[in-house]
Amino acid sequence: MGQLGFDFGIEPRPLIKVTPARLSLYDDCPRRFRMTYLDQPAPSRTGPWAHTTLGAVIHNALRELFALPASERTPERAEALVSRHWRSGGFADAEQVARYAEAARRWTADYVERHGADAEPVGVERWVSATVGSDPASPSLIVEGRADRIDAHDGELVVIDYKTGRTPPSDEHARRSRALALYAIAASRTLRKPCSRVELHHVPTATVAVAEHTDADLNEHVQKAEETAAASRAAADKLTRGGDPDQLFPARPAPRCAWCELRSHCPEGRQAVPAARPWDLLAPTT
Ligand code: SF4
Repeated sequence: MGQLGFDFGIEPRPLIKVTPARLSLYDDCPRRFRMTYLDQPAPSRTGPWAHTTLGAVIHNALRELFALPASERTPERAEALVSRHWRSGGFADAEQVARYAEAARRWTADYVERHGADAEPVGVERWVSATVGSDPASPSLIVEGRADRIDAHDGELVVIDYKTGRTPPSDEHARRSRALALYAIAASRTLRKPCSRVELHHVPTATVAVAEHTDADLNEHVQKAEETAAASRAAADKLTRGGDPDQLFPARPAPRCAWCELRSHCPEGRQAVPAARPWDLLAPTT
């Protein structure tokens, strides 16, 4: 089908559709990106991982809590929702399951107690999408994804990401998070309100890391996203034309190989570090 509009003899740049998760995965390890998104049939994965299970339980409980009327969003209700969504995949044994189920209830209730949950969010697990580019006259990316929560303060949106890992993130983590920056841009475009503030909420410690982005910060994140998207697209195109998968998508061994769910297909990763146990990345309970 022909394209509507004037023809100035200039080929428009094709837009690349990306999610923050895909971009991060390519930057961390191109081989893992290839095995996750491109290889067919999809390679087998290890798992489940207890920290992933725990994160999903807490995310599900908070999503359901914010779907309730504000008066019912109490710490006790948050605890009950953790129990309702509880899963035990990846934990070592029944003692560890019981200890973490109790900890997850306590953490989520403390988080709700400390930060409150009665303000109405603008979105919960809200899908956002935007066409972006470091040169506004020539956008190059469609950024899309699901933000954990979007709040509104003083007429501006705030993008919130829940964290449940071992270490509470710092304000610097929030500032450097390309995912949060891209969600801020996409939320602003989708919901037609300004958005410069992003927050990482670490539920186990009920702490909040904050960054207030300037337009220049956001543009820098977009520029880096463009570079990653262009590199991954070019490698994928060459792979389709018969290129060498290991050269185009090299392994990037690092401590994270210990818990990479694709390490059984990656000799470099297995050589770099021993495998973590499925519960090694759980946040401490005390
Ligand atoms: S084991 Fe490490 S190097 Fe191998 S794919 Fe996974 S993250 Fe990449």
